[in-house]
Amino acid sequence: ETGEPPEPLVRVSGHNYDADNPNSDRINATLLSLVRNKELEQLVISMRDLERTWNSKFNYPWTFINDEEFTEEFKSVARANTKAEVRFLTIPKEHWEIPSWVNRELMHESANILEEQHVQYAHLESYHQMCRWNSGMFYKHPGLQDYQYYWRVEPKVHFFCDVDYDVFRYMRDHNKTYGFTVSLYDAPESIPSLWPETVKFLAANNHLIHENNAMGWLTDEKARPEHYHKANGYSTCHFWSNFEIANMDFWRSAAYESYFEHLDRAGGFFYERWGDAPVHSIALGLFEDKDKIHWFKDIGYQHVPFFNCPNSAKCQGCTEGRFTDGEAWLGKEDCRPNWFKYVGNEWDTED
Ligand code: GDP
Ligand code: MN
Repeated sequence: ETGEPPEPLVRVSGHNYDADNPNSDRINATLLSLVRNKELEQLVISMRDLERTWNSKFNYPWTFINDEEFTEEFKSVARANTKAEVRFLTIPKEHWEIPSWVNRELMHESANILEEQHVQYAHLESYHQMCRWNSGMFYKHPGLQDYQYYWRVEPKVHFFCDVDYDVFRYMRDHNKTYGFTVSLYDAPESIPSLWPETVKFLAANNHLIHENNAMGWLTDEKARPEHYHKANGYSTCHFWSNFEIANMDFWRSAAYESYFEHLDRAGGFFYERWGDAPVHSIALGLFEDKDKIHWFKDIGYQHVPFFNCPNSAKCQGCTEGRFTDGEAWLGKEDCRPNWFKYVGNEWDTED
């Protein structure tokens, strides 16, 4: 185990990635950040790291999205932190607002119950809206229709390792749909009916399940038995979606659209606190070829309180193999070993 990327990941760019080159070798992709005006400082932290370690070499455009108008200050500071193209989008109201079929009274009562169970953000409506939007709306934004791939970037995350190849091109050339860094077990209290609703959906849509699916990974009972039981049949293992590099064709597929539509009608984004991470992960595990999901081991990453920290001279500021900010119990949250158990680890196949 050398910590060096497996062979297919080594790419000498040798292309012209100048920011203002209209005929560059960039493929159809954008860095994508849903962010609030008040998070400008935290966003800059993320931008600086990603520009330093990767994007200053490839100059992929940044797209910032907000449910409100961005301020002039936000725009000028964001522009000042990259030489790449920068775009600012506002979310259409009908994509963000709580759907008409959601019963407000039931929503508030449900939030009380969630809060008693220590579900984070139970009463923060905008958080529920954000989770729903990230699950089934972002890729429908008119301003993203011309893009195929995106790299999701949140405020206040860190990137530690120099990455010297075009990761979007890697995704395309290797026919990958989805890339992740960290994978975790979810709080089952936030998603008690997500798996039962999924089972209901599958009862009528069994044909959508991919022949090379990751069902075994999704339904592993032994990994964290208590999680599995509280989540009513789902291990709760999911890709931590504050980082994701993905092909939007998957979210735009008829299979995913009908699945999201089913979940949305069931109301669990508001009566429970379904996150986009388990929703994306379950959909990928069912409807996509599991070999099209890639662990970006070589992209050193932190979103509090978890890390992806490779052993490599290319990385600075993160301790090799570190997974958490401290407490020992948090180590149990790392679900990657379970993913490798069912799907394998591409990085083990090389020496
Ligand atoms: P956490 O990581 O789950 O604790 O949630 P965050 O507070 O980091 O929110 C996840 C992402 O959604 C971040 O990129 C936030 O900037 C963004 N976000 C959350 N709520 C809102 C909102 O109401 N409006 C906008 N524009 N962005 C939001
Ligand atoms: Mn966050």
